[in-house]
Amino acid sequence: MYDINQVRADFPILARQIYGHPLIYLDNAATTQKPRQVVEAMVDEYYNVNANVHRGVHYLSQQATDLHEASRETVRQFIHAKSTNEILFTRGTTESINLLAFSFGEAFIHAGDEIIVSTLEHHSNIVPWQMLCQRKGSVLKVIPMSDDGHLDLEAYEQLLSEKTRLVCCTHVSNVLGTLNPVQDIIRIAHEHDVPVLIDGAQSVPHMPVDVTALDCDFFAFSGHKVYGPTGVGVLYGKENWLDRMPPYQGGGEMIKNVTFEHTTYNTLPYKFEAGTPDYVATHALATALDYLSALGMENVHTHEQELTRYALQRLSKIEGLHIYGHSPNSVISFQVGNIHHLDLGTLLDRLGIAVRTGHHCAEPLMRRLGIEGTVRASFALYNTQKEVDALVEGIQRVAKMFG
Ligand code: PMP
Repeated sequence: MYDINQVRADFPILARQIYGHPLIYLDNAATTQKPRQVVEAMVDEYYNVNANVHRGVHYLSQQATDLHEASRETVRQFIHAKSTNEILFTRGTTESINLLAFSFGEAFIHAGDEIIVSTLEHHSNIVPWQMLCQRKGSVLKVIPMSDDGHLDLEAYEQLLSEKTRLVCCTHVSNVLGTLNPVQDIIRIAHEHDVPVLIDGAQSVPHMPVDVTALDCDFFAFSGHKVYGPTGVGVLYGKENWLDRMPPYQGGGEMIKNVTFEHTTYNTLPYKFEAGTPDYVATHALATALDYLSALGMENVHTHEQELTRYALQRLSKIEGLHIYGHSPNSVISFQVGNIHHLDLGTLLDRLGIAVRTGHHCAEPLMRRLGIEGTVRASFALYNTQKEVDALVEGIQRVAKMFG
């Protein structure tokens, strides 16, 4: 196990006071705070290395290129991909999924084809598929779920047909913390020769992930949720799919040769990376992943599971508090009596406690649960039991105010 106090000292923002209270940051599913090492990597690169990558013969350009490409290798190792050709840098999970929806859609989706998503999806894993369906005249199907937030695998098997072209499913729900049985979901899809995209935005920060062992065909995650900078993310794709997909955007870097009559495209992964990449962010993302590897993802996972279990146990004792789903995966959504989630979140903020309120970019899931929104506390590797205690006390204080 790592030393939590030492870890917390790496995150300067955690020392802030908010309205005279120590900051208790429990909005990690939205974005995580950054360790000094990550910020320093960015500052150091801008101060000492900065030059555009890939195109320069000069020293700095080569050094920046080396850092950028070493970052791709760090990502490859972190998620256990087979080759760096399978690692595409994007702006984040949302762009990764949009890239896939456009490119996979161009190559493989036709009128009448079906795409399966689940009830638990973030809007980022719904809307791009809806837009594709509108473009191509294809159909979106939805895996139903139980009241406690578990997907119905029997119903899922029924949905698969010879018209199904792709299954898109989140690894961990950003609202309920449900860890989906993605291994089963992938195996069942493959029995029907259907590829699978896993949205890993809420799994990569919290648990070891091995895309090769999972055997998923595509996998997306965001840098900013994994202690890295904003504006960078990853789309993993198996080479045999990526090879057969057309570019997403045209421009520099994604070409081999250009004439006014015809353009030939670059090899993987560059075919999908038009324009100057955010090479400072990719280097900082790799620094964040190195930071996690040094702590050990198993340790991070254990710490957060223990903390979430502790929080579930303490929260469930608060009178009138209802928890949606009951999964120990770093995310807890709840409501207290008939206190509006926005009021509760606002009053907790006055105590220095940052939680998220609302629909969490999952309106169809809210509709399924028959609610408008929840309060969501989400944990990271630096959160402590003392912070959970403060959350519990804060909720009790607000509940008392509301009688
Ligand atoms: N999917 C899930 C499960 C998420 O939690 C999020 C972020 N809340 C996203 C996708 C979108 O990530 P980003 O905004 O970084 O593109």
